[in-house]
Amino acid sequence: MSEPHPPTTVVGAEVDGARADIRFEEGRITRIGPPSSTAGTQVVRADGGALLPGLHDHHLHLLALAARDRSLDVGPAADDADFDRRLRARHRELPAGAWLRVVGYDESHGPLGPGRIDALAPGRPVRVQHRTGAAWMLSGAGAAAAGVEPSADWRFRDDEHLGRAWADDDPPDLAAVSARLAAYGVTGVTDATPFGGTEGFALLAAARARGDLSQRIMVTGGPALADRPVPEGLDRGPVKVVVADHDLPDPDRLAGWFRAAHRAGRPVAVHCVTRVALVLALAAWERAGSIDGDRIEHGSVVPLELVDAVANLGVQVVTQPGFVLAHGDRYLRTVEADDRPHLYRCGTLLDAGVAVAGSTDAPFGPDDPWLGIRAATDRRTRAGALLGPDEAVPPRTALDSFLGPLRRPGGPPRTLEVGGPADLCLLDGPLDRVLADPSSRHVVATWIGGVPVHGST
Ligand SMILES: [Zn+2]
Repeated sequence: MSEPHPPTTVVGAEVDGARADIRFEEGRITRIGPPSSTAGTQVVRADGGALLPGLHDHHLHLLALAARDRSLDVGPAADDADFDRRLRARHRELPAGAWLRVVGYDESHGPLGPGRIDALAPGRPVRVQHRTGAAWMLSGAGAAAAGVEPSADWRFRDDEHLGRAWADDDPPDLAAVSARLAAYGVTGVTDATPFGGTEGFALLAAARARGDLSQRIMVTGGPALADRPVPEGLDRGPVKVVVADHDLPDPDRLAGWFRAAHRAGRPVAVHCVTRVALVLALAAWERAGSIDGDRIEHGSVVPLELVDAVANLGVQVVTQPGFVLAHGDRYLRTVEADDRPHLYRCGTLLDAGVAVAGSTDAPFGPDDPWLGIRAATDRRTRAGALLGPDEAVPPRTALDSFLGPLRRPGGPPRTLEVGGPADLCLLDGPLDRVLADPSSRHVVATWIGGVPVHGST
């Protein structure tokens, strides 16, 4: 990150709707204005392309994203035999004894237990992650390798314990993740993993120190780490509190976690994916009070009658418009009709004065924020169906939801300023044209702290 890089001038860019040249050095923007001498600087021609502050993904999971890259993603089933066919094929490809990791399983693949897995991949340690990321199923050999009792029940939210068992087998390739995010123009992220131990922080900090992770990273961690410092190179964000739908906490317990976070000077980021979870979170806030920076993660179901309560609390909602695209067809099939209009609200929340931030929740949603920007605008599922069209927002609003500061998701979008960090994303055309067809294909170059991390330099 701190490697010296020559001063750079981006010439002929569109900045806030006007033509300008932008010069940056030592990580900061030093000039925005009409053309002047570019002597002694590296020159990048924008040809009228918009230069934006780099995008911020306000909620994702870096280690899970890296793990997903080396997993078999079974996605929604094409037919009943789909899962079996793909698992068997991967089993044949892998060396004996290697873990076979499966992600994306859901009920569409049929009931799952160790017996079915063992029959498909005899003797192999296999771990299957539920689509939600909240639960694991292990093969017989997998349970043995992880040092746990075999079980036909899903293991919920046990990543910390299980993760230790397979830490050595799976060193995450965060460099590949970082490069991909850079290609989307992403210069900062919030890792919203509710780590219970410090191993996750250590892995992320080490990857940053090595230069594998170039993005600025704010981390959360769970309530157990509320008053722990985080390693150098990471920024300590809110405490992630999960209102788990398989094991609903009572509001007093929840309020206790909120208070502990607030006492440590940290806001809370509260995972709420159902109506019940939101009601519980609101009840906990009533007891503990809210502080600046408290946020609702997902807000997947926000019934109209609760919109004002959310607004009055002053908490932000960190939503995932990409879920409309990636999971919308399943929601239309499986979510109760009563809840469907409340799914992944955006426009209604903004109208009520709630700050709404964009994020991907990758790997549980697509990691490309531009897919979310598009879906926030057209509310189309993969199959082209409409989901909550009344919640659509203009493309500029959707983009802005990815431009807030990491500490203030949903806050006013960052702008390019002299003296500000050279975290930049250059597009291949003027902003209006790009937003008429939002896509990461338009990102031609990305800099973080003035250092090129993607594209044309
Ligand atoms: Zn998440």
